[in-house]
Amino acid sequence: MSTTMTQAPQILDGKGLSERIKGEIADEVQAWMSRGHRAPHLAAVLVGEDGASRTYVDHKVRSCARVGFESTLIQRPADITQEELIDIVHGLNGDPSIDGFIVQLPLPDHLDAEAVIEAVDPAKDVDGFHPVHMGNLALGMPGFVPATPAGIMTLIERSGIETEGKHAVVIGRSSIVGTPMSLLLSRAGTPGNCTVTLCHSRTKDLEAHCREADILVAAVGRPGMIGADMVKAGAVVIDVGITRVEDDTAKRGYRLKGDVDYDSVAPKCSWITPVPGGVGPMTIVSLLRNTLTAAQAKLQP
Ligand code: NAD
Repeated sequence: MSTTMTQAPQILDGKGLSERIKGEIADEVQAWMSRGHRAPHLAAVLVGEDGASRTYVDHKVRSCARVGFESTLIQRPADITQEELIDIVHGLNGDPSIDGFIVQLPLPDHLDAEAVIEAVDPAKDVDGFHPVHMGNLALGMPGFVPATPAGIMTLIERSGIETEGKHAVVIGRSSIVGTPMSLLLSRAGTPGNCTVTLCHSRTKDLEAHCREADILVAAVGRPGMIGADMVKAGAVVIDVGITRVEDDTAKRGYRLKGDVDYDSVAPKCSWITPVPGGVGPMTIVSLLRNTLTAAQAKLQP
């Protein structure tokens, strides 16, 4: 990775890479089934009518078909009670035909998302949100890694980006993106071995931290907050943020915008993820990969 900008940035094409990896997973599924096993089976629980959540779940279900998985979508109205939702989770935990499942977040405000996450059997928690998986990740032990950070690590690895000894700055400390991302980048391994700064809403002088980053990961949800003046020349920029912004010229009346002001930042960096088409598709392949692993792990003692 160069530290000065000498040529046009390379696009971290998550969409293209995710298609290639789905092809690889599909081949593995075929080989798995040819040995007499049934297809891996992912279930998704969708509560309420949130448009973005609906879109994400639809993508996940469609991707299952693409790789030869079975999938089940369980939809419930927004006024479902905590007890009813936990009952669904317990049912999926005990259903031997389900290898892994997710409860799409965010949940309506009256529901306790943490209690729901803790109710999921870690062996079926292919989102990797259960405290057991977070603990394993912090200790460098095997477990399901949350899909978005796992997808980013795959994107970095497959793009041949060197991370060792680099200074990575992660903005956002959520338990599903920012915090696991900071752990993955700092852990001993390839990719990894970064020196990591984790920034959040209380960080002072965010701009100065960002300008120090060889690798900048933005996971906040504030469209366009990272401008060119916050990025070091030659940096690798990973934009996790996805926000729907109104756009009358778009067919749906909105378009997706990342945390990074792409047009001004791209000319300055060495690699950059577009939004859409960067991190989002990689999240889905990580979920598929975790589900295949869950199906195969069932047979291990
Ligand atoms: P979150 O709301 O849980 O966390 C946001 C984080 O940003 C918090 O830790 C907060 O401290 C930090 N933050 C808020 N304002 C800040 C500021 N001014 N300066 C610095 N830090 C600030 O969100 P999340 O679930 O981690 O998601 C973050 C973004 O990533 C959202 O746009 C979400 O839609 C997107 N996302 C994308 C994918 C994907 O597959 N591409 C997956 C998950 C989330």
